[in-house]
Amino acid sequence: NTKLTKDWLQNYVDDWVDFYLKHTGEGEVASYIPLLSQAEKSHLGISIMGINGVTIESGNVDIPFTLQSISKVFTFIVACMERGVPYVLDRVDVEPTGQAFNSIMHLEMKQLKKPFNPFVNAGAITVTSLLNGKTSDEKLEPLFQLLETILGYRPSLNTDVFESERETSMRNRAIGYYLVETGYLESELELTLETYFKQCSIEISLQDLAHLGTVLANDGRDPKTEIEIIPKQFARLAKSLMLTCGMYDASGKFAAYVGIPAKSGVSGGIIAVSPPRARQEDLPFLEGCGIGVYGPALDKQGNSIAGIKLLRHIAKQWDLSIF
Ligand code: GLN
Repeated sequence: NTKLTKDWLQNYVDDWVDFYLKHTGEGEVASYIPLLSQAEKSHLGISIMGINGVTIESGNVDIPFTLQSISKVFTFIVACMERGVPYVLDRVDVEPTGQAFNSIMHLEMKQLKKPFNPFVNAGAITVTSLLNGKTSDEKLEPLFQLLETILGYRPSLNTDVFESERETSMRNRAIGYYLVETGYLESELELTLETYFKQCSIEISLQDLAHLGTVLANDGRDPKTEIEIIPKQFARLAKSLMLTCGMYDASGKFAAYVGIPAKSGVSGGIIAVSPPRARQEDLPFLEGCGIGVYGPALDKQGNSIAGIKLLRHIAKQWDLSIF
């Protein structure tokens, strides 16, 4: 069966990256954080890392980019590790908003009171306020340690992106003040926002995204050593939130058409997670994989326009949908 060979998979992915490259022209690079507008709109890359060690990369795989909203998955996990799930979920819900990621409107829906979920800005800022520590660096140390344990190196902060966001953060400030008024922030507003902007400005590679995704696919265990890095319960909770809330107000469509947990960021990255599942065909990635996509041209919701199309295609062809 020719489909089993790595070369076949590589050629297949190369062809489809080439095909979807033309869709980058339909999107726009994020510009509300001025420095992000310097990204090259026509870039598109993908990295796939199987739990079994098979890796495929294609397209623009060497461009570092900032985590942006993808960081929300990992600060949520760290907050659960530090505070326990009941404490965190007392302060942030697990319901999709159906609104833009930076929406303020849903905060006024008093029947729910708390921010809807940890992956919209209001929920993420709340979660960041729960992290232990008196300074932003102290608060983020466990996150950096978690990333270092998984990736084998300590990612750095892109200070230019951090400054750029801090200077232009009126919407997040408005959300922050609202959270102060409603009593959800556990640390002081400036400290919380500084920490939040820093977590969004952590720079990683496409391979790193795939690697992080593989650990989530493997329920929090290192795929090579099987050592637990993230408790299974937290990995599962994070994946369920990625499926229901990970792609902003396009999460429903992504679940319907792609069918795997994913989280996007406005720098153009998407982390997607395909858990191990019964093999119907002998394709190696059905044993579980993490997928990183990078394509800074975004659609109206703020998701990588070509990245989503590429993921949709591959998930369909390789039968990755968890459903
Ligand atoms: N740092 C960005 C913000 O808060 C992250 C948003 C995103 O990636 N969707 O606006």
